[in-house]
Amino acid sequence: MTPHTPSDKKAAQPSQEEGARLTRLRRDILDVICAENAPVKAYDLIERMRGKGRRVTPTTMYRTLEFLLQNGFIHRVNFLNAYLPCTGKHKNHTALLLFVCSECGQTREIDDAQLYNAMHRRLNELGIYLKDSRIEIQAACQSCRASGNP
Ligand SMILES: [Zn+2]
Ligand SMILES: [Zn+2]
Repeated sequence: MTPHTPSDKKAAQPSQEEGARLTRLRRDILDVICAENAPVKAYDLIERMRGKGRRVTPTTMYRTLEFLLQNGFIHRVNFLNAYLPCTGKHKNHTALLLFVCSECGQTREIDDAQLYNAMHRRLNELGIYLKDSRIEIQAACQSCRASGNP
């Protein structure tokens, strides 16, 4: 008796080569993320793609976002559950300060290893350990502050 192997099983697994490069779909989704001026959620991305005549399933979208995250093209803002393009020059995302304006959604990577390390060290002294290597700062940007928002 020969072992049963469904013919579509192999096709469902992406090859390693495919996993390493920026395919058309990945590039298109990255373009959409870059075109937003605030972090964008996965379901909004699916809507944007639909607007361009592309149907992307949630599974494909999350897999694509995971690829873009792993390869340093984008970042995820955890408390918003949303994504934004990486604008920093850092190669690995081991030390990341991410500022998000809670009023207008403007997001900025703060490329300041000294500040990051100081915060990290002080938090550890206080017995607080970051669950990943990012610190997200939710605050007000200069223009929102100037316009009277707290
Ligand atoms: Zn970055
Ligand atoms: Zn703002």
